[in-house]
Amino acid sequence: MVGTKIRFTGAKAPCGRTVDGEHYLDDDGQGLVIRDEYFSCGCRRIRHEYHDGSIQVTAVRHDGKVVREEFGADHGT
Ligand SMILES: [Zn+2]
Repeated sequence: MVGTKIRFTGAKAPCGRTVDGEHYLDDDGQGLVIRDEYFSCGCRRIRHEYHDGSIQVTAVRHDGKVVREEFGADHGT
């Protein structure tokens, strides 16, 4: 797997601050997609999309506190 790093600016971190950071993207070509965001304040957000379409997101604030964020699938409309 080959990862790609992309810099971003002015994104909202899990702590609520708007900061710059780096976006890490990896894709195995078979449905597994990793999108991690590393914010300059120290927060990070780990997002993994799996082959079955489920998405796991874990956000960790710069003070070390884990923030659960719910996305996708089971919110159904
Ligand atoms: Zn932060």
